[in-house]
Amino acid sequence: MTRARMPRPHEVAAARRDPRLLRALSERQLDDAWRTRGVCQSVDPETFFPAPSEPADAAVALCRTCDVQGACLAWALEVGDCHGVWGATTPRERRAMLVAWRGQVQRDGEAMEGAGPPVRDQLLTLVPLHTR
Ligand code: SF4
Repeated sequence: MTRARMPRPHEVAAARRDPRLLRALSERQLDDAWRTRGVCQSVDPETFFPAPSEPADAAVALCRTCDVQGACLAWALEVGDCHGVWGATTPRERRAMLVAWRGQVQRDGEAMEGAGPPVRDQLLTLVPLHTR
């Protein structure tokens, strides 16, 4: 087994602009039930785990028709799973996305820490107690 090489800076830069990654960032944590709504629920799972020498085109094409591909890719990047097709991406594509993802999630976390109480808490202080 060969070790996967680290993605190069230009690959990470391209991943940051990839619409699939941008969609995953905007849809992460929005849909806990995404698995039950995936197109792959009605397809042979083997389709999504082609051998490294086999094309992943069929799986990627199915994912592109799937309503939950953003949440699915977000999950794969959170887990760091690099096997199979998730959210219309191949393992190779996700290697660069993973570097971009972790950097963005870290920046988001730092921004939240500096932003004071979560928005929900701020809103609760504005809602009268008897209506909660
Ligand atoms: S994006 Fe692909 S792998 Fe993910 S739930 Fe949809 S069909 Fe399944």
